[in-house]
Amino acid sequence: MRPFNFSAGPAALPVEVLQQAASEMLDWHGSGMSVMEMSHRGHEFTSIIETAQADLRELLGVPSNYKILFVQGGGIGENAIVPMNLFGRCRKADFVVTGSWSDKSHKEAKRYGEGHLAASTKGSFTRIPAFGEWQVSSDSAYLHLCSNETIDGVEFNDFPDLGDLPIVADASSHILSRPLDVSRFGVVYGGAQKNIGMAGVTIVIVRDDLLDQAMSICPSAFEWKTIAANDSMFNTPPTYAIYIAGLVFKWLKAQGGLAAIERRNIEKATLLYETIDNSSFYLNKVERSARSRMNVPFFLADETLNDAFLAGAKARQLLQLKGHKSVGGMRASLYNAVQIDAVHALVDYMKEFERTRA
Ligand code: PMP
Repeated sequence: MRPFNFSAGPAALPVEVLQQAASEMLDWHGSGMSVMEMSHRGHEFTSIIETAQADLRELLGVPSNYKILFVQGGGIGENAIVPMNLFGRCRKADFVVTGSWSDKSHKEAKRYGEGHLAASTKGSFTRIPAFGEWQVSSDSAYLHLCSNETIDGVEFNDFPDLGDLPIVADASSHILSRPLDVSRFGVVYGGAQKNIGMAGVTIVIVRDDLLDQAMSICPSAFEWKTIAANDSMFNTPPTYAIYIAGLVFKWLKAQGGLAAIERRNIEKATLLYETIDNSSFYLNKVERSARSRMNVPFFLADETLNDAFLAGAKARQLLQLKGHKSVGGMRASLYNAVQIDAVHALVDYMKEFERTRA
């Protein structure tokens, strides 16, 4: 049995996907080549990327007036790539800052134009400000938010209707963990190294009418219109990462799709949050309605026990539970590939640690 891996990303992948990739490593489907060794323009890789794209469209129910792009640059790259693609006509965007990642997006966008803060919980990232409190400008190109804050454990369960103002969502750490109504957004993007696959590919889902708003300084390799016109092959795409994403999409379909995976994710998160809430030894600070199902930060009431907690966890094969350096404490990430057994093993350990140390 493999250890239980609670990494925030790059994160656990389904073992079936790793096994399939291993079995196809030297010879993909009788081609005599590893996927790493194939031309991205050959018919073998073309079938891999087309199938991955079609499966993602089906899983998320992406409407036909949206393009799915496989790009590079990661979530941090998108912090610059989004404004460069959308500031062509109007150099201003609104930002909702609910955690460390949306804060970074806001700061980076200000290098390209005006970044108006529509709402912020900076100082204490523990909630989503009520939609009615958002001060949205009337002259912005878009509003940016991070739909799941990986570090702070704050997740949107719903989104406001902002009329003509497109919402751009960084969904890096919860995309594919639950159904998402893409039609409520102008752009949804996410790095792959959590629920999609391995680091190296970033997925951008963009509504067609937003493809012609790029700034002239936007590098061609990052311009969505150019990438879309070239079926994500304007430059050499991260082929192996796209192949792994394709295997994950097939795996997700075999699990019953996003509604089925969401039920499991709710079960996993409920088990962990209940364990935390039923104890005064552990603490999660996020308002219940905004708690992330994917990333559960928690603190020991006595922080001098942190190292002992982590050492005991490691001895029980519970890996990568240390919280992000900016917030400290612990964090358990419960992405799709983390099974309920892993969460049972974690909560059993947490209860045992509490009994022996409290
Ligand atoms: N946004 C979110 C929500 C993330 O979780 C991360 C990575 N943890 C990023 C952006 C940045 O991703 P990358 O390091 O791949 O650029």
